[in-house]
Amino acid sequence: MHILDELRRGRAVDDRALVRIVNTQAKRDGAEKRAYAKRRLLPFYQRVRAEEPERWASWGVTPELERQLVAALRMKPRRSASGVATITVITKPWPCGSDCLYCPNDVRMPKSYLHDEPACARAEQNRFDPYLQVSARLTALAQMGHATDKIELIVLGGTWSDYPRAYQVWFVSELFRALNDGAVCGASANPRLSAGPVSAPDLTAAAAGLPEAVARRRARYEACGIFADAAELERTAAPVQAAVDAGELSYNRAHARLYGASSAWRAASAWQEADLAELERLQRENERARHRVVGLVIETRPDAIDPSSLELIRRLGCTKVQMGVQSTDQRILDTNGRGIDTARIARAFDLLRIFGFKIHAHAMANLVGATPEADRRDYLRLVTDRAYQPDEVKLYPCALIASARLDAYFERGEWRPYTEEELLGVLVDDVLATPAFCRISRMIRDFSSDDIKAGNKKPNLRQLVERRAAACGRPVREIRYREIGSADADPAELSLEEVAYETSNTRERFLQWVTPSGKIAGFLRLSLPDPAYVERHAAEFPVAAGEAMIREVHVYGTAARLHEADGSAQHLGLGRALVERACEIACAEGYRKINVISAVGTRGYYRALGFHDNGLYQRRDLS
Ligand code: SF4
Repeated sequence: MHILDELRRGRAVDDRALVRIVNTQAKRDGAEKRAYAKRRLLPFYQRVRAEEPERWASWGVTPELERQLVAALRMKPRRSASGVATITVITKPWPCGSDCLYCPNDVRMPKSYLHDEPACARAEQNRFDPYLQVSARLTALAQMGHATDKIELIVLGGTWSDYPRAYQVWFVSELFRALNDGAVCGASANPRLSAGPVSAPDLTAAAAGLPEAVARRRARYEACGIFADAAELERTAAPVQAAVDAGELSYNRAHARLYGASSAWRAASAWQEADLAELERLQRENERARHRVVGLVIETRPDAIDPSSLELIRRLGCTKVQMGVQSTDQRILDTNGRGIDTARIARAFDLLRIFGFKIHAHAMANLVGATPEADRRDYLRLVTDRAYQPDEVKLYPCALIASARLDAYFERGEWRPYTEEELLGVLVDDVLATPAFCRISRMIRDFSSDDIKAGNKKPNLRQLVERRAAACGRPVREIRYREIGSADADPAELSLEEVAYETSNTRERFLQWVTPSGKIAGFLRLSLPDPAYVERHAAEFPVAAGEAMIREVHVYGTAARLHEADGSAQHLGLGRALVERACEIACAEGYRKINVISAVGTRGYYRALGFHDNGLYQRRDLS
């Protein structure tokens, strides 16, 4: 009530004011401050709103007041500050064709993940079921006060294309199904808080039907013999994990023992299948759903990328591909057991760009055989060489997890983590070397410090790096550092800049809206493929010579509702202006058509801009 009173008086309620109000209230009630922790306040409000209508009515909350309250109580506002709420889901444990030295071997997870990473713990609790994972995440996001009308789905886990095709289609179908159902559990099923305004029947359906759908699913796993009891999971996995840790069993053989030979997992696999017709029906439904998919990301290895795998990935609705590159130095790749050559990595970049995907590469510093100087050269090559140049990078320092083969190298003294000074030096130089069209999305893995035997344990590593980079007086151009975040953009002050660069098979134009202080309010990636290259591979590609490609359009602003004009950057026509400029450029460069790799939930937007559905993409004729 006191928070509402402050808001009614027109006072800003930031975190400091919130602490003050809460402390006063706790003192008055003789209660512990913990009982009024910020994370509890919004769920409390949601519960009263859903379950105690008279009490809620007595508070006199208008829609505007509610909007302010949700903004004040929103947890981790950065999570949706880029305009989109992200849901990360994990596929079930699966063998991997490689056995990289640094890769953890947690038998409860797909290779390279640890069961106590937050998304992994959620996945395991939900039996790696895509529907249940989305439902849990939608619920949590709603409880934290985030709008969930625009969702980016990030599918992590084993190498995507190594999973059976029918599993891939099923997994993605269930993601769409959960979003179409609005699978939010509990009091936060109130869609007014979690998404745009909906009708009373929608609200009733959401509140009444969905928890049952979730319960039915859980029961189905339990009928197969797959449970989520933490102690039971630990007990089952422990002897196999011990054998893996002792080097007696590989991850793949452990997987065969725990899952391949398990009647429970085989029974579940039998129904984890779907066909493309059902997926396409769910995708069409999602075009108008309350929670629309505005981006879908999968994770794979460069050697698993070929035209046919990309065609399927695209049909699933994918718009971005994450791939582990780690190094572009053949010696380092070989020393670390990557089992891939740099030509194959370069080919993956070529194919991804021609197919229109946004390319998100993982790069790792401090691998076996690396030095700080070699790492600087390696990263510089990744972000500037025509063969690579990713759109986004996860820049991780290598950290030793005891279950990785790297442990033996550490024990023999053949590998050591960089000192903090060495590591900061490398990362600062990497950040400064990153071009304006590239975004460094992360700098550490979600490993808990207990899991890290050697290597960086500081969760605020990125902050340390950025502070030092800013202090050195050279501009930081990478995108994440410059994002406008939740601050409103003044359209009169924005200017449209164009950054041109060349890759081995395209000319790229990165168009960006920037503020006078260099902040970025939106951007577009335009690819102009080399016609000769496309003609040479005509039989393999879904595009023809003379067709340009919009690979990404992103406009920042808080995750505003799709139908509301709220003054944030998403609604200022910045996206439309970017698209029109891209069409002008492509036309002037002699391209006759332009494709856009739209997400399912943005198809309507592009239709309104004159694009028509055309196979894997949406297309506009240029003249
Ligand atoms: S390819 Fe990826 S998942 Fe497989 S072993 Fe290497 S790092 Fe791990």
